[in-house]
Amino acid sequence: MTTHPHLNTLIIGSGASGLAAAVFLHRLGVKDIAIYTEGLQHGTSLNAGSDKQTYYKLGLYGAEPDAPVLMANDLSAGGAMHGDIALIEAAASPLTFANLVHLGVPFPHDEFGQYIGYKTDHDPKRRATSCGPYTSREMCLALTAEAKRLNIPIRENRIAIELLTDRNRCRAIGAIFVNTAKSALAGQCFETVQAENIIFATGGPGGMYADSVYPVQHTGSIGLALEVGAQAANLAESQFGLASTNFRWNVSGSYMQVLPRFISVDDQGVTREFLRDYFPSLPDLLNAVFLKGYQWPFAAGHVPGSSLIDIFVYVESMERGRQVFLDYRSDPPDFDFNALNQETRDYLTKSGAHLGKTPLQRLVALNAPAISLYRDHGIDLATEPLPIAVCAQHNNGGLAADLNWESPNLKHFFPIGEVCGTHGVTRPGGSALNSGQVGAWRAAQAIALKYQGKTINDADFLAQAKESHQRLSQPELMATPASPDWTQDRLILQQRMSRAGAFVRTRETAIQARDEARKQFSAVSNCNLTTLANAVDIAETIRNRQFCLAQVYYLTAIIEQIENMGSRGGAIVLDPKNGNHIHPALPPHWRLKPENAAWRQKVMLCQSDPDGNPVIAWQDCRPVPCPDGWFETVWKSFRESRQSL
Ligand SMILES: Cc1cc2nc3c(=O)[nH]c(=O)nc-3n(C[C@H](O)[C@H](O)[C@H](O)COP(=O)(O)OP(=O)(O)OC[C@H]3O[C@@H](n4cnc5c(N)ncnc54)[C@H](O)[C@@H]3O)c2cc1C
Repeated sequence: MTTHPHLNTLIIGSGASGLAAAVFLHRLGVKDIAIYTEGLQHGTSLNAGSDKQTYYKLGLYGAEPDAPVLMANDLSAGGAMHGDIALIEAAASPLTFANLVHLGVPFPHDEFGQYIGYKTDHDPKRRATSCGPYTSREMCLALTAEAKRLNIPIRENRIAIELLTDRNRCRAIGAIFVNTAKSALAGQCFETVQAENIIFATGGPGGMYADSVYPVQHTGSIGLALEVGAQAANLAESQFGLASTNFRWNVSGSYMQVLPRFISVDDQGVTREFLRDYFPSLPDLLNAVFLKGYQWPFAAGHVPGSSLIDIFVYVESMERGRQVFLDYRSDPPDFDFNALNQETRDYLTKSGAHLGKTPLQRLVALNAPAISLYRDHGIDLATEPLPIAVCAQHNNGGLAADLNWESPNLKHFFPIGEVCGTHGVTRPGGSALNSGQVGAWRAAQAIALKYQGKTINDADFLAQAKESHQRLSQPELMATPASPDWTQDRLILQQRMSRAGAFVRTRETAIQARDEARKQFSAVSNCNLTTLANAVDIAETIRNRQFCLAQVYYLTAIIEQIENMGSRGGAIVLDPKNGNHIHPALPPHWRLKPENAAWRQKVMLCQSDPDGNPVIAWQDCRPVPCPDGWFETVWKSFRESRQSL
């Protein structure tokens, strides 16, 4: 095992948040840092996009009043979010946004330098902005260029497989990586890094779901931190929505507004337009499809309403085993434009799309780049239907953090970006990207102010590292040879989560899935890694173990949600005995358990007990602070806080 020199701060992950943290640290004078990452081409930020990928920040345009407290109120309005964290995300948003602008991210402004905005979901003002479909990619490219300009070391082909902590698991002290460019022989691929601080920026749990619109280049690693006991928050709160699956892309906005046909095909090749089962007439069906364009994410609050479409797709695919497609090639024979409601007709007419004789022709008029996007990925909407599913897109929850984005129970460990669960039940669109930048800034500031010295005991570190290394390389401890095909295990765990932990939840399914995840965790934990010849296979097998563990945590949180909170945010709970039947054409077990709104006042925490089992606890939401500050006194305490460090 190669032991690397001590770093002040190890940044794991090179998405928009990890890169920003490295840049901020360097600027604050903390230069003994390095980014360790699977690779600069990996991650959600670089590879995901949508119609108009949104960045949320304080209003910077026109005469519409805005202020940090107003924005914090909106960030936390969905409940289960701490108001002080919301205030920090609001207050630091102009600063971190300006950093991106300075680095050349092309956010649009007018001739006076005002950054124009638009309203996004859960946003009463026009705070959202965008650089187009690939905002987060633009951010990554600009931040990577800056990190390189600053000569910040970026170590690619490194997959973190274990976090090192002190013996009491009170603080982080380093990490072990698999270097996938090295041989697996005799443990040559393992690298150990000692670090005073870890910024953990490994992104959302994309690899945990089979139906996922996270890019294929992104897997995620929250299980690494759960394994060492880091506290998590709001794990049950995630976002799901309709997306194409051959090329992963949200089919929101124009893709719905041009009124494609929803068709399903069984294993005999028999096709049907299944939405017809649920609507009294074709115009009603098409008006609902149009509305779905505006209301893309699945929302418990839109049942009944636009989110019924997601449910109908789920029933057709998950319960009836048919594959579902969007078909842009033709309209149904009874299609009549004049029978659509006024909103739909007006929108299509104003966009010049009303003359189109097919959904595709309307899409050409409304948003031609939406067609080229698929063509660029080898899919021709003119000749083939598009396979879709209701896919996992974002985790509002994640690891818990304090006001400096430091883990409350694992010191010197800073989860930032999507792996950090600062959001509540709902969040304004675009606040994920803002939160990642603000978290990076706060963590960097905290490290620069209080954690620059070396406090790790070398002997303790070496003892911990040795113990971990022995676990990794002692074949006699593990009876079963590891399967060289880790993809099979991955698929099993992904399908389990899409079945039991996605947007439709029932108690029995979730409990069964949690028990299966436990069993799979034990099986993968007990396999002998030294039988694997390839470094990637070793890393991904360990990742399977961590995903199984993460599933036990997520499903425990979901079971708690099912039992107490009911349907809320991005998921519904079915209660076949006592719930309210959702729609007359749905099977009888589709009965919705209503929300108990009292739980929106609390954040759900989840942390391991001494035996490694997840335990749920509740924390009252802290309110949005609204101090009536006075410049001289705030300045004085600001100066004093710096002197005391
Ligand atoms: C389709 C889609 C559309 C979206 N649209 C929006 C939007 O409009 N607005 C918005 O705010 N948000 C949006 N999001 C969410 C947002 O894009 C993500 O939350 C954000 O990009 C995550 O950034 P990150 O830096 O936390 O993680 P990522 O960008 O995912 O980066 C994670 C990094 O960690 C690395 N990594 C992971 N595990 C390991 C390991 N074990 N060892 C080493 N490296 C590791 C990865 O390789 C990668 O470099 C969208 C997400 C999707 C999927």
